[in-house]
Amino acid sequence: MNPESHGLFGCVVLVRKDDTERVPQRGQPNEEFSVLLADWLTFMVPLFIAELRHMTDEEIRRARADALEQIASHGDDLQYGGRHQGSSRTALAKALAILARAEGGVTALGVHACLAPHVDCPGRPLPVLTDHPRDGRTEPPS
Ligand SMILES: [Zn+2]
Repeated sequence: MNPESHGLFGCVVLVRKDDTERVPQRGQPNEEFSVLLADWLTFMVPLFIAELRHMTDEEIRRARADALEQIASHGDDLQYGGRHQGSSRTALAKALAILARAEGGVTALGVHACLAPHVDCPGRPLPVLTDHPRDGRTEPPS
């Protein structure tokens, strides 16, 4: 495992209102689905991130194609329920786990997922570097 990675399960967090996507708020009838889906994704995506870590590029390509097919064919079941609801939601979580591998991760549906620290990560921001003292000293004044 890369020592600079977020670990086996990556970093998966709900995004706040100020981030690139708005977090759905509870209590609004049309938003309840989004809230529950985002909560569920924060549970499932880390599991798929861990599963995908040991896959070859070809296996990931196949997983991406399968997820795309499932979501494209049964997206309505995913949102409104139906025979394929479970498999399409699983495909969505797997797709986000695959996209989390990209530099900077992925932010979608109220969730951010990534595998390594990066600028503007809503989960684990990079540490803030402080300026050196203006007088050229390298250590803080006592
Ligand atoms: Zn991130």
